[in-house]
Amino acid sequence: MTIKHPFKAIVFDFDGTLAKLNIDFLHMRRAVLDAIAGYGVPTDDLKHLFVLEMIDAGRKRISAKHILSEEEYYRKAHALISRIEIEAAKDGNLFEGTKGLLLELGKRNVKTAVVTRNCYAALAEVFPDINEYLDVIMTRDRTKYVKPHPDHLRLTLSALGVPPKDAAMVGDHPMDIKIGKDTGTWTIGVLTGYSKAEELKQVGADVILDEAADVMGILP
Ligand SMILES: [Mg+2]
Repeated sequence: MTIKHPFKAIVFDFDGTLAKLNIDFLHMRRAVLDAIAGYGVPTDDLKHLFVLEMIDAGRKRISAKHILSEEEYYRKAHALISRIEIEAAKDGNLFEGTKGLLLELGKRNVKTAVVTRNCYAALAEVFPDINEYLDVIMTRDRTKYVKPHPDHLRLTLSALGVPPKDAAMVGDHPMDIKIGKDTGTWTIGVLTGYSKAEELKQVGADVILDEAADVMGILP
């Protein structure tokens, strides 16, 4: 399916969509599991979780056992993943077409935003002049709820002043498609990151593109 929709806003995931995905999530999850295990609570059944959910699950478990350690653990775990993200960002690069795409969308009066579970410092490391290219940058440290929670995208669209039906969510992960569908936007999967076309189709992506820069091809 192809769409020719006069989008008023396009919201992008960051890693694997606008920039090369180079965070070692396996390493990050292992580091968080080790931090949780350091408080003497079991971690075996937490292994399948995404890292932010793993940190929250660890917090619950630790708070049940040692009330005084909960806040300390939570701060440590977040500092740990931010450090890994910022370190990874030092070797990160925007995709070649990213700046051109964002400039072109701006010229056409299409608003742009980023919705990411990454932290702002890591984005600024890869993309120092990011504020000149995007209208809203909704990193995890700027929102209470993160993807796949629909409020992450809902609040971003409110900040842009664009209703979901006039917006598209673009991302490389099934979670990006899911948050778009749950919020009522169009959904566009890209193949520059985490997932294969079949996985993005399976969760219902309206369109699959090789890369984010190809978004220009589906505008009217
Ligand atoms: Mg991604």
